Amino acid sequence: MVSMIVELRNVEGTQAAMGWAGGHTMVVDRPEGKAGGMGLGFNGGQLLALAIGGCFCNDLRYVAEDMGVGLGKIAVTVVITLDGNPLLATSATMTVACETLDGFDPKRIIDKAAEVSAISNSLRRGVPVAIEMAADRGLKTCPECQHVFQGNGWDGIDAHWKSKHEGIMPYAEAWPLIKTGRYSQM
Ligand SMILES: [Zn+2]
Repeated sequence: MVSMIVELRNVEGTQAAMGWAGGHTMVVDRPEGKAGGMGLGFNGGQLLALAIGGCFCNDLRYVAEDMGVGLGKIAVTVVITLDGNPLLATSATMTVACETLDGFDPKRIIDKAAEVSAISNSLRRGVPVAIEMAADRGLKTCPECQHVFQGNGWDGIDAHWKSKHEGIMPYAEAWPLIKTGRYSQM
């Protein structure tokens, strides 16, 4: 099993989001004027089509390498249709052209890539998608003085406690109680 993580966050000063995976980034946005969009990036439908087509371009290369065939130019066009309210992707059609360098029948490469292509096969089969509220993103509050920590989770509690409340209870003793929600104000 392999798992991959991508992250997305708002882009300061816009209502677009930037996504990243490892060292690669891209921007997602609505078209200009739509729900605050500025047309700065791809929409979800375009990304879906890119995922299908991009995965297939890689698959053509994997398959060609496995078969020991040299590939020349490749051209992949993906048309997805969306319909209904709320919108659903109802079909995706991919048109593929690919040249081989040694007269090998490109159809065999394309057929094999279609057989193994992870994204299009996954979509055909359907992928369970779970959406949950992030549990730890809520801002943490000092149980002694209600100071709100603006960083990530409890970041800063250590210095805050030692400078403000060490006299009430040493940090080393207070922290296990705070992080498990068992600390009650003195
Ligand atoms: Zn405090």
